[in-house]
Parts: sequence; C-alpha cells; structure tokens
Amino acid sequence: MPPRTRRPAAQFRKNLLEDAAQRAARYLDELDTRAVAPLPAAIARLDDLDTPMPAAPTDPASVLARLDEIVGPATMGMAGPRFFGFVIGGALPATVAANWLATAWDQNAALATATPGVSRIEAVALGWLIDILGLPPTTQGAFVTGATMANFTALAAARHQVLERAGWSVEADGLFGAPPITVIVGDEAHPTLIKSLGLLGLGRNRVVRVPVDGQGRMRADRLPRIEGPTILCLQAGNLNTGAFDPFDDLCAAAHAAGAWCHIDGAFGLWASASAQLAPLARGIGLADSWATDAHKWLNVPYDSGIAFVREPGALPAAMAISAEYLPVGDGARNPADFTPELSRRARGIEVWAALASLGRSGLAEMFERNCRGARRFAAGLAAAGYEVLNDVVLNQVLVSFGTPGVTERVVQAVQSDGTCWCGRTVWQGRTALRISVCSWATTDDDIEMSLEAMLRIAATVPTAVR
Ligand SMILES: *Cc1c(COP(=O)(O)O)cnc(C)c1O
Repeated sequence: MPPRTRRPAAQFRKNLLEDAAQRAARYLDELDTRAVAPLPAAIARLDDLDTPMPAAPTDPASVLARLDEIVGPATMGMAGPRFFGFVIGGALPATVAANWLATAWDQNAALATATPGVSRIEAVALGWLIDILGLPPTTQGAFVTGATMANFTALAAARHQVLERAGWSVEADGLFGAPPITVIVGDEAHPTLIKSLGLLGLGRNRVVRVPVDGQGRMRADRLPRIEGPTILCLQAGNLNTGAFDPFDDLCAAAHAAGAWCHIDGAFGLWASASAQLAPLARGIGLADSWATDAHKWLNVPYDSGIAFVREPGALPAAMAISAEYLPVGDGARNPADFTPELSRRARGIEVWAALASLGRSGLAEMFERNCRGARRFAAGLAAAGYEVLNDVVLNQVLVSFGTPGVTERVVQAVQSDGTCWCGRTVWQGRTALRISVCSWATTDDDIEMSLEAMLRIAATVPTAVR
C-alpha cells in the first residue's frame, strides 16, 4: 500500500472520542453522589429532543454535547453502586473500555475467516465460561443479546434434538404435523422463558406447569409422568427469591424418561463460579442446555447473554446456515453457526474482558460480596421488625413493611428518595420491596447507606407495622 498523508479528519475524530471519554468518566463519577432515579426536571427536559429531523448535517461534537446534556441526567443510575432493581448489575470498567475499543473495530462477528480475532476471543471466553460454570466439556455456546434470546437459542437446540429422536426434522419441515412436544415448566418460570417458548412455536399456554414450594422451587414430587418428546425447563435463581430448583432429582427423573433438561440461569448460573455459593447450584451440570445473562451478574454492558448446549452439533443443527457468498471456515469456529443472527457485534469481547480482568478469585469475590450485602439488608430490616419473605440464599431480598398499601408507599418513597433504587413485586400473594444486589460497584458502605435510608423512610410511612 502506498503511504498516505494523515487526514485532517483523524484529529477531529480523536477529539470527539476524547470528549466522549471525558463525558463518560464525569457521568460515572457523579453516580456516587447523584440521586439514583432521574429527577422530574431532567425527565421534563427530554421534551427538548422533540425537534424536527435536522435538514442538514450538525457538527458531531455538538450532537454529543446535546446527548450528554439532555439524556444523561434523565438516565437511571443503573451503572452506579446503589441501584438494586431488576437483578441487573452494572458494567465493570474493563468491560466498558473493551466495549469502546471493540466498537471502534466495528467487527461483524459472524464468520471466522472475515474476523478471526473476534471469533477466536469468543471461543476462548466460551471455554473459560464452561470451565468456571462447571458445564460438561462437550458444551457448545452462543453469544446472544440476553437471557430471553439465550433461552430461545438453547431451546431451539432442544426442539431440534427431541424431534430428531422422534424422526422429524423441525428445521426442514416445521412444526405442522410434527410429533407433539411436551414442555414442562415450574409455576414461577420467568415470563421471558414462556415468551421464548412462544417464539419457538411451542406455545405460551400449552406448557405443563409444576407447582412450586414456599421458596418458588419446582416440586420434584409433583413432576408429571413424562412420555414422548419432552423438554423440562428448570430455574437457577428464582426471579424473586433467588432459589434454585432441585436439579439432581429433576434431571435424573427427566433423563430416565428420555426428556431434555434446560436450565434458565439468567443470574443464578453464576453461583457455580464461587466455591461458597456452588452448593446452591448442585446438579447444574446434569442438564442438557443452559441460558444465562452476562449483562446481569457478570457486569458487562448491554446487551449480552449466553446460551450453552451439551450435545455437540445440536446448536449448529438449529442455527447454522450456508450460502455461496459466505466463506466456509477452515475448521475455525464460525460464531454465526451458533446464533440466531448472522451479522452481530462481538459480544464475547466484554465477557472475555470481565473474566480476564477479575480472574477466578475476583469473580467469586464479587458474587460473594453481593450475597453478603443481601444478607446484611435482610438482617437489618428484620432487626427493625419488618418481614423478610424469602430465605436469603443468594442476592435477592423480598421485604414487606406491613399491608400491601404500606409496602407500596415505602417502595415509592425509597425510589423518590434517591439514595438507592429498588423495585416492587408481588410474590406468592405478598407485596414486597424487591432488593437485588448484583453490581461490581456496590461496597459494604453502599449497603449500609441504603439500609439506613430504607429504615429512615419506613419509619416515616405512618402505618408501617413495627
Ligand atoms: C432477567 C431474566 C431473564 C430475561 O433476561 P433478559 O436478559 O432480560 O432477556 C430470564 N430469566 C430469568 C430468571 C431472569 O432473571
């Protein structure tokens, strides 16, 4: 290639990226002190976005400034240390930085021959994950957008396999005329698992629901008789309580009857990566497929989930395509053979960066610190006379402050107070404040500060039962 003179655009681009980095760093610094929820004035200012589409180009630097000034203050402090809503976590610094670099690379992560670097790093990250999560060594995986799509992807492999065993190719011939598949779920399965079953043509309503116990775990003694092509969907980490289904008993029963076992472990699957928490996940490796999120407890930026399938070939059987214009790999792993998408961003990069930067000990420390935080919330709230509704086995705490109305008022007041942010739920008939501790950024001090705020607020809601 002939040498080229440096384009003026290069300096302009550098300035813009440095401006973005400075604005991002300032934003993240401010999360320590600003109210977690956006203030009403910031939300009102979003009206400034309602302009006609510009007729002509605008200087990118002023586009960025406008974004930062109008949208930044209207964000929820999800990346900060005291956001305890929705079990979602923040983003580790190494993963934010890796994400920026990977965005600059702008790789289309579909094919190994076109983007060897990202194909290889994803394969490495998958190998590490299979190891730390205690999954069987034959396991294959896929980087997708989140646990909804991870469930969809893993269950597509399940659908392929149970129908192939029954002599039917679902990829070729679809579901019309196929042998029926029985899908069994726990009564507290995550709604997105049900949605992914709907997307797969397995129906949201035709699932067989198994009763759960007082912590939301599927009752092994109530598992129905299994006959014919069957997929049993279990849960690692109940969305409310954090409880784990009894995998040992359920997988053994399902396998004895020839069924496929799938585990939705959007956040709970990570328990296997800590020696302290791993006993909760006992038997997890017995399943045939698993779904997890990386954008929740692994603390990588959105959007990022991972599907895993034990049976080699089942995932590509459901997902691979080939076409004349696509180069065939020389044995290297083509990510697109495993995912619903062809073109996609290289999500595995941030997963790799999280694992590489934390190491085994850092990962276990983060999970264990978060669980310790949850236990501290539970102990502090119980000591003040409020009712903790669940056994706090993981990172989830459900607390009632009295009647549903009083609890609702406490939730509202906690959210608008701004010290921290927690959600609300109704679980097994009880209205509760739902606390999910899953951010790398949360320190013991953040827990104490948030607990104090909750107690102060609950004491001022007039009819709170003490
Ligand atoms: C969050 C969650 C999901 C859905 O994950 P998304 O990343 O939002 O798609 C599925 N199952 C469980 C148990 C979850 O906690």
